[in-house]
Amino acid sequence: MAKYSNRLYLIFTLFVFALIFTWSIAGCGGEEETDKEKEPDKEVEKEEPKEDKDVNLDAIECHFCGAEEDHEYDVLSRPILVTYGNSSDERPHSGISEACVVYELRVEGSHTRLLALFNKDVPGDIGNVRSARLDFITLALENDSYYVHVGGHQAALNEINRIGLSSLNEFRHAGFWRSDDRGAPYNVYTEISQLVDSADSRGYSEDGEREGLLDFRDEESMSNSSEEVSEVQINYGSNFNVINYEYQEDEGVYLRKVDNEPHLDREHDQEVKASNIIIQYANSRTIDDEGRRDIDLVGNGEGMYISKGEMIPITWEKECEEAKTKFYDENGDEINLYPGQTWINVVEEDKVTVE
Ligand SMILES: [Zn+2]
Repeated sequence: MAKYSNRLYLIFTLFVFALIFTWSIAGCGGEEETDKEKEPDKEVEKEEPKEDKDVNLDAIECHFCGAEEDHEYDVLSRPILVTYGNSSDERPHSGISEACVVYELRVEGSHTRLLALFNKDVPGDIGNVRSARLDFITLALENDSYYVHVGGHQAALNEINRIGLSSLNEFRHAGFWRSDDRGAPYNVYTEISQLVDSADSRGYSEDGEREGLLDFRDEESMSNSSEEVSEVQINYGSNFNVINYEYQEDEGVYLRKVDNEPHLDREHDQEVKASNIIIQYANSRTIDDEGRRDIDLVGNGEGMYISKGEMIPITWEKECEEAKTKFYDENGDEINLYPGQTWINVVEEDKVTVE
């Protein structure tokens, strides 16, 4: 009987302690804390059907694409910039849909090359890889990335040597192979993990100095003064390599088309989708008999930022080769990206139409 009453006493004591504990939490500002804890749960339940509002800015791990901590790929300690060919013989591409950022630059005539920045350990083939140009070095410098290419224009190769760029060149370094399904020079492929190993064996710095591309936002709307834009067309010069970005409202992304064909990634079996499109107006000129162009990437100019069905006019500024290109809205504030892939199309002003 004594044993039984001892146990009752113990239960009663625990009950009293539990009451005091609960009361003390609420009394120490716990109310606020409890509210905070409950609030997100409610929100998650409410917002679940609209996936893209669930951006947790604090959880972003890759500051080039806004991927959160639990993303399926590991984030690299230094990004990798890969030179992709972009003629009709070189599409579909491999790996490009999983890049964080892709730059498109005119190289000669209507032809462009794509500079894809990978800051994630994306598995599978990457390519096809093409040669270096001076303008591409500027982009590698501003992102403090490894620069991946197959040889290059002599002026570019000289510059890579002169400045000691962390170059990974198929002609000289490990980590590349040539496929049988396409003829040279369209058949050079690589893989992110092999490039990281190759860079390591070269003794290049393992850590990138740049924190990311731009800051990110968690709201869909970018500004009160934006204009609705469901389609962007870029004509790089003549009747081929005409780019269309078409807005898909259900996914909140722009599907990219080249010459009216979906831009495909055969490695990941999906279409290329842009969360953000930055149109950067820049002048360029022919610099040799081969028609190679030199683009004014250092300096300043105008452009457009398009995301989530909206467009705002922007300005850009880049102080020197190594400096980051900064993009500003009409108030002079740096623009904030929505998480996902960003395309930066560098082009002359008269080549773009939006509707
Ligand atoms: Zn990323």
